[in-house]
Amino acid sequence: MGKTIYLKTNEEIELIRESCWLVSKTISEIGKHIKEGISTIELDRIAEEFIRDNRAKPAFKGYRKGNSIFDYTLCVSVNEQVVHGIPGSYVLKNGDVVSVDCGVLKNGFYGDSAYTFAVGEISDEAKQLLRVTLESLYKGVENAVAGKRVGDISNAVEEHVSRFGYGIVRELVGHGIGRSLHEAPEVPNYGKRGSGVRMEEGLVIAIEPMINMGKRDVKVERDGWTVSAVDRKPSAHFEHTVAVKKGSADILTTFEFIEQELKLKTEKSAVNG
Ligand code: MG
Ligand code: MG
Repeated sequence: MGKTIYLKTNEEIELIRESCWLVSKTISEIGKHIKEGISTIELDRIAEEFIRDNRAKPAFKGYRKGNSIFDYTLCVSVNEQVVHGIPGSYVLKNGDVVSVDCGVLKNGFYGDSAYTFAVGEISDEAKQLLRVTLESLYKGVENAVAGKRVGDISNAVEEHVSRFGYGIVRELVGHGIGRSLHEAPEVPNYGKRGSGVRMEEGLVIAIEPMINMGKRDVKVERDGWTVSAVDRKPSAHFEHTVAVKKGSADILTTFEFIEQELKLKTEKSAVNG
């Protein structure tokens, strides 16, 4: 991640909004298919096809880290996996929590979002983790306002989740986004109010709390990508791409499509008993 902060024009923000719309639609498409019995590689195939059908590119596919290349459209991180889970033969089962992270590139601009889904019936503890992590994302978003500092976002997330005793992952952070997937500034999920970069209109950032039910410590698995909680307790991850404005943030991604899908699913299962 470079140090230069690129502020975006309104025209550029509209292009990012388009990429964000597609990312949001893609994750809701995945939400439709998430159920017991589906493999994570199948979810990845569905996502890639959906993005290409919309004349865009999966942003993570071909992503480089040292000598290693990520060859998938989604990061699918199950249970104790925090982020960067590699899609594969794992078959989802009742009670899993699954974070789906997706990025697209369209018209030269990136969009980035993540949502953590419940597979079937999950424990009350896991439900609370998901709810609190989602709430913390919006606490952060409320602070993505011109004149405030990045530390105000970080602090809002931290304050909200630490009341529940959860672990905040420190090794991974939110980020600026635009013509690159990861731009400056970094947006940590912990920090002091009033610290860090002062935000201006035109700054576009991805805010993405990664919250562990247990301790905050994480490690990279032997596959070189998957980041997991060391204590093997579940982890949750929600992400929005937002444009900083005066007064209130402009949220460019949306969970609205996902929520519609989840509602349909609940209605269906109620009918089927
Ligand atoms: Mg992401
Ligand atoms: Mg991101």
